[in-house]
Amino acid sequence: MYLDKIEIHGFKSFGDAVKLNIPKGITGVIGPNGSGKSNVADAIRWVLGEQSAKSLRGSKMEDIIFAGTEKRKSLGYAEVALTIKNPDETVRIAYTEIVIKRRVYRSGESEYFINGSSCRLKDVQELFMDTGIGKDGYSIIGQGQIDRVLSSKPEERRTLFEEAAGIYKYKVRRQEAERK
Ligand code: ATP
Ligand code: MG
Repeated sequence: MYLDKIEIHGFKSFGDAVKLNIPKGITGVIGPNGSGKSNVADAIRWVLGEQSAKSLRGSKMEDIIFAGTEKRKSLGYAEVALTIKNPDETVRIAYTEIVIKRRVYRSGESEYFINGSSCRLKDVQELFMDTGIGKDGYSIIGQGQIDRVLSSKPEERRTLFEEAAGIYKYKVRRQEAERK
């Protein structure tokens, strides 16, 4: 499975709709300070369900919606879509291409879509659980995260290994069942 495309509209500095095709191999994002490189990484974590405005470097969720510039009006919503190719069905869904989309309005309500069908945040989280993708998955390593892994408590570090081994979802399900 691999990331094929990112489409962003109205998210942070992306007032215009942009489509970033990710070729196979290593892709680097370059640009001057403040040009929106980190915003691309934020967009990926956000569409995968990030709920914390702080970890997206804002103070409230509305801060992620394009606030306008001197020449451009602000927008009323933000939308990000990720296209993931899934040729070997590593993500357990019977599609070789998965499009995950999230939209948020200034009122604060978020909508999620998997291949065009409206779904819950939980559906997005469950789809990627144990694949390493996901907002807390090890495929997105943020600044300072390596330090956190090295200095974290053994129980916290264990979660990372459980995700890599593919058993984290069973633990989550058991915890959910025990709560009922
Ligand atoms: P650096 O090289 O310094 O790390 P960067 O390319 O990673 O820079 P980002 O942090 O991705 O830059 O982008 C910061 C820019 O995004 C700032 O100019 C900021 O004004 C803009 N920005 C953030 N949120 C919004 C928003 N809601 N509306 C418009 N612009 C925004
Ligand atoms: Mg940056």
